[in-house]
Amino acid sequence: MKRRQLLAAGSATLALPVPAMDFAPRPAPAAIRASIDRIIDIAVGIRPFRAHGPRLQAQHLHGKTVVHHYGHGGSGWSLSWGSAQRALALVQASGVRPGERIAVIGCGAIGLTTARTAQQAGYRVRLYAKDRPPRVHSSAATGLWTPDSRLIAQAHATDAWVSGWEAMARDSFKVHQSYLGLPSGPVEWHDGYVVSDDGFDSALPGHAGEPDYPDLYDRIADLRPAGRALSPAEHPFRSPHVRRFTQLVFNIPAYQRLLLDDFARDGGELVQRELRSPRDFARLPERLIVNCTGDGARTLCADADMTPVRGQTARLIPQPEVDYALIYRAHNCVALPRRDGLLVAAMGEHDFGSSDLRPDRQQSEDAVRRLASLF
Ligand SMILES: Cc1cc2nc3c(=O)[nH]c(=O)nc-3n(C[C@H](O)[C@H](O)[C@H](O)COP(=O)(O)OP(=O)(O)OC[C@H]3O[C@@H](n4cnc5c(N)ncnc54)[C@H](O)[C@@H]3O)c2cc1C
Repeated sequence: MKRRQLLAAGSATLALPVPAMDFAPRPAPAAIRASIDRIIDIAVGIRPFRAHGPRLQAQHLHGKTVVHHYGHGGSGWSLSWGSAQRALALVQASGVRPGERIAVIGCGAIGLTTARTAQQAGYRVRLYAKDRPPRVHSSAATGLWTPDSRLIAQAHATDAWVSGWEAMARDSFKVHQSYLGLPSGPVEWHDGYVVSDDGFDSALPGHAGEPDYPDLYDRIADLRPAGRALSPAEHPFRSPHVRRFTQLVFNIPAYQRLLLDDFARDGGELVQRELRSPRDFARLPERLIVNCTGDGARTLCADADMTPVRGQTARLIPQPEVDYALIYRAHNCVALPRRDGLLVAAMGEHDFGSSDLRPDRQQSEDAVRRLASLF
């Protein structure tokens, strides 16, 4: 049976049974004002899914060393720092020494964290990008810790790959924790609820053309508190089955802005430029280039292993009193308490294989109405 991955919390959110650990009684969560006239923005982005998982590989091309670093599917924000550390290892192995300037192509989650990681290792960095935030796909992301979301087809997830993924996820998690407690709140922890009409045992149906994905989350289940089922008296939702979990949330605009500011403060340069073919790598003055073009690599590098996976997020007027995430399992629909708005994400039936960037307002309105039905 095909498994559809939950947009947000990964399969482990639903894993049963789990021991109750840290959950003391707490006040009832504030109701979400789930009303379509509160939608203030709709963003569409592409997840750069690669059947064999992210490409992390050095290549000699037209007299340059190109470190390919793209294809992080629905996990790019989550895995960014750990992945950047592996890209840095390839930079260091190339013989280019700290102090020299390197080029990073791409200004999304992967390019920015790669640039910062290289700066921290002593490299001077120039970023080249066709677009910068908020006009990158990373800006449309939901902002949850989902290091196993649409990352690799199950058929290609060897034991060695899974071990490498676990180390990468743990390294990334550690760096994200260092961004807690900052005034702009780039990273925060929030409780969340996953609600289901029919329990948590049934597999969700797959979407057309979508591969099976490996279950990875159990490998890193220790990184957050275990969730637990709630009795009807313990939650306000109109749903028979509810579980509570605790989750890492990325406030994407604040995180991007902080990364850009830190990059500039450490002497980084940002140049707007589109590369149209691999020959354009040779036209850059730097002799080492890290290619963090995300879905752009599908055409730039003619990477046939890649499939675009469309995603859409809407924001409702911020509701600071709502401090929890809410996942409606059957509809794969998520609400997230971001600082820039109450974010509502939902999967469309035809997102896998689609690179259609046109907003579908109906899709977001349907998601908002589904959330409204829970209150
Ligand atoms: C709706 C949605 C929800 C998501 N939710 C989450 C989530 O909750 N948690 C999570 O971890 N991940 C999530 N993701 C996945 C995550 O956003 C991606 O994995 C991530 O954006 C990939 O980042 P990137 O830097 O590789 O790509 P991008 O953000 O696409 O950045 C690519 C950069 O390269 C540049 N570029 C591309 N081609 C060229 C070229 N030819 N020449 C020059 N520059 C070029 C672009 O202009 C851009 O600057 C979500 C994605 C979507 C779409």
